[in-house]
Amino acid sequence: MKIELPGTSSPVSVGKLLCIGRNYADHAAEMQRAVPEEPMVFLKPASALVRTDEAVRLPPQSTNVHHEIELVAVVGTEGKNIPEDEALDHVAAYAVGLDMTARDLQQEAKEQRHPWSVAKGFDTFAPLGPLTSAAAVDDPQALTLRLTVNGEVRQEASTERLFFPVRELVHYCSQIFTLSPGDLLYTGTPAGVGPVHSGDELRATATGLEPLHVSVDRPE
Ligand code: MN
Repeated sequence: MKIELPGTSSPVSVGKLLCIGRNYADHAAEMQRAVPEEPMVFLKPASALVRTDEAVRLPPQSTNVHHEIELVAVVGTEGKNIPEDEALDHVAAYAVGLDMTARDLQQEAKEQRHPWSVAKGFDTFAPLGPLTSAAAVDDPQALTLRLTVNGEVRQEASTERLFFPVRELVHYCSQIFTLSPGDLLYTGTPAGVGPVHSGDELRATATGLEPLHVSVDRPE
């Protein structure tokens, strides 16, 4: 899948989906875990991506798929070992996204000390809203995230409560991975995660960003 970075004319392919776990204290608490001392990073495949007005398809392997609303930073320029004070210069855009999670498979994986790739990586498990130029976002740590399911608010929080802020995450991840244009950084979810069902309509918003809308279905 390709995305158009603001201020550029040719679309780039989506690369890595870097995702951060337990980056809000209240979500870590609801999962009965502590916020880790270093960012907890996992990856999703680009094949998990869907855009606004598309559908999340519930896989037959899971009976408990959860929504996780997250602020997504979109990498615009390549970098390795990016210093914290230059980190935001590498972010071309922001969007609101959803880190869909098969909670039952994730729980099994945790118990068996297996990776989360399956629980997190199904097709359609990484909805991404329209991109807004980073230049139009004064402070990525001052946005209100809000997720409604069928019109009812399920998650609402300010990104000021991100434990590791965007600049720190970019700095940290770039010490491991070369960051490239088209990489996406899902920054973690606040409290209020919960199950979705076939027929649900999810609407995710963040202050100043265009909304993300997806429906949920379970294919026959
Ligand atoms: Mn998440």
